Amino acid sequence: MSLLLLIFLTIACLPVDWPEPLFGVGTEGSAAISGVIVAGLLLVARFFSHRTVSRLTLDPSSRESIARGHGLRRLSFFFLNLFGFVLLLVCGWGWTVRHAFTVSEDYLPGADRYLPGAELVILVPYFISLIGSWALFFDAERALHLAAPYVRGTFWTRGGYILYLLRQHLLMVLTPVFLMIAQLGALRAFPTILDSPWAKLAALFGLFGCILLLPSFVPLVLGLQPMPAGRVRERLERAASRLNVRYRGLHIWDTRGNLATAMVTGLFPRLRHIVFTDLLLSTMSDDEIEAVFGHEVGHVKHGHLFYYAAFLMLSFLTLGAAYRAVEMAPGTTMPTGDAALVVTVLTTGIYLFVVFGFISRKCERQADVFGCKTVSCSDPDCIGHGPETSLVAKGRGLCRTGVGIFVRALERVEEINGQTREADRIERRGPIGWFSGALRFVGISLATWQHSTIAKRVAFLKTLPGSNGGEQRFQFQVTLLRWGLFLFLAGSILAVSLWKGWRNLLEGV
Ligand SMILES: [Zn+2]
Ligand SMILES: [Zn+2]
Repeated sequence: MSLLLLIFLTIACLPVDWPEPLFGVGTEGSAAISGVIVAGLLLVARFFSHRTVSRLTLDPSSRESIARGHGLRRLSFFFLNLFGFVLLLVCGWGWTVRHAFTVSEDYLPGADRYLPGAELVILVPYFISLIGSWALFFDAERALHLAAPYVRGTFWTRGGYILYLLRQHLLMVLTPVFLMIAQLGALRAFPTILDSPWAKLAALFGLFGCILLLPSFVPLVLGLQPMPAGRVRERLERAASRLNVRYRGLHIWDTRGNLATAMVTGLFPRLRHIVFTDLLLSTMSDDEIEAVFGHEVGHVKHGHLFYYAAFLMLSFLTLGAAYRAVEMAPGTTMPTGDAALVVTVLTTGIYLFVVFGFISRKCERQADVFGCKTVSCSDPDCIGHGPETSLVAKGRGLCRTGVGIFVRALERVEEINGQTREADRIERRGPIGWFSGALRFVGISLATWQHSTIAKRVAFLKTLPGSNGGEQRFQFQVTLLRWGLFLFLAGSILAVSLWKGWRNLLEGV
């Protein structure tokens, strides 16, 4: 979802010549049309939210199916909101902002006169309808929370709920968009900056620095709390020394019982944070929490975070070289100008979704296996663990019980978050049934492109115990895949820089 949003917002910020306002209504008219579209979107959000609340009031016992319907309505609103934004851009909003924020030659001689940061104004209607829809969906979310079968603590206030979602968006979407807007602004103010390949090289290192340092801000951005001393923390610290992993801190993310998840950030021990949500900690048993901790440690032990950073950097260079090659090829039919910009962003997005998604799903499986190993003893066919069972150091053993604990943890996540479950859903026929089926499919694909579905992960893990060398084969395949892709990317960059010179390589970036 975040990737899709990022692609759309990036395209909206591109220096594209948007069409003039419809019917020649001019600047004010275009602002009015945009206002009407935003108001229409907010009305839809109000209607969707109200529908969930009233269905719950009528029939609290069918919370499950109402919650599923609500999830689909929120997903359709996500797409509707994007569609509305594109609509108002082509109806003249893009043109209006570009004209209103371009100053005359007297103020800014020499440079491009479209003011730095004006892209933020382009995004304003989207943010109004997005944040407004959160305020409206709050009623439905609170009603669902209150009707939940298990205790989930008190829910957010409306303002608290908006802040909670805003913080997540800040982390995943807004920070990259703001950085890009700052970069576009700097390029407009100092257009000669990129004539030197050294400047581009510096920019590339700057990007790497961001990838390195941004994770340190995660606790601040999400408002995380340090995990208090106690039984769980002691157990995780014991596991950490058994697995030989270092980190800066263990944190709790207060989601008011909304989300069961965990994550790890930071490439180096001093910048590394391991995070658990409140709901995950309150619903899982201690050994399941330890197994989830093992999954996050697995990402560290297999070097996934370094791999992702290197993969992204190499991919941008390779894609840049590829665009340049297509551009310079004789008889090329590449679109030019605005269309080329949009095509470039779209191809990069699709590349990330397909290639990065594929690699990421493999790495998740590796981390899953490490999670199982974290809670495994030395007997592969053991039939259970007692208080005296000693677990294998550095995650080097894999036993039946260990796999069982991790699988239970995964199934519990699915049960609580209820994301991708298909059970007892009402089959509808006709266009509405087809539409909601398609929407559900798109929603599941967007939600699971990085991690795969829990059902598939569980099915894979269950093949591991007892299978002869199955785990070694799997690890070998993933290692081969990761190195193959890495060498392919690095090799193509090397080939282009030997062939055309490294300065030419950076031209495409
Ligand atoms: Zn993971
Ligand atoms: Zn065991």
